[in-house]
Amino acid sequence: MAPRPPRLDATAGEVARTAAAAPGWDELAAVARDCVACPELASTRQHVVVGDVPASGRPRLVLVGEAPGATEDETGRPFVGKSGQLLDQLLAEAGLDRAQAAVLNIVKCRPPGNRTPKAPEVARCSGWLHRQLELLDAPVVVALGLSSAKWFLGPRTVLAAVRGRPHEVDGRAVWATYHPSAAIRFGPKGAPRAGLLADLTAVAGSLGGTA
Ligand code: SF4
Repeated sequence: MAPRPPRLDATAGEVARTAAAAPGWDELAAVARDCVACPELASTRQHVVVGDVPASGRPRLVLVGEAPGATEDETGRPFVGKSGQLLDQLLAEAGLDRAQAAVLNIVKCRPPGNRTPKAPEVARCSGWLHRQLELLDAPVVVALGLSSAKWFLGPRTVLAAVRGRPHEVDGRAVWATYHPSAAIRFGPKGAPRAGLLADLTAVAGSLGGTA
């Protein structure tokens, strides 16, 4: 019998148990798409943005952002708006192929008005991400932006202090860098764009130039 999606106002533990029971990516995606654990997000979203995975299903690299924006909510796919377009461009400049990477978010439903996800929303949705990382089993993760960096490296993380090198977390190399939206906000000559490109180039180097 297929697992039932988490009910309205389900606890983080209930979401995590449902996610942990998914035997594979497709089963997880099918049940996550009907998740209504976060009452406000479930009532305002158009799509649960589960994430993109390569056709092979086995990425060497996983990119993790904070939450879907308007275009992602409309299309059901992660990083396809302006931030996604810049991310694709910088990945290509760094020698990385997005089609070979998995692209995920910490929170799978768009917060209204692009507000920051609330702590209980992050806690609930973390169950999906933990299981996704387990199923994908990629050796390298790139945390895009401070929220994602904190999810992997702890709540006291300061981006400037952790950028530029990998951190070992649960047997994976986690790199933390700027979110592409910061690169857009500070412009083409701003430090976040240059920093994001430098970090992605370093990641590419660590992977031997292919992902
Ligand atoms: S944000 Fe995550 S936990 Fe909350 S309703 Fe969406 S999929 Fe479920």
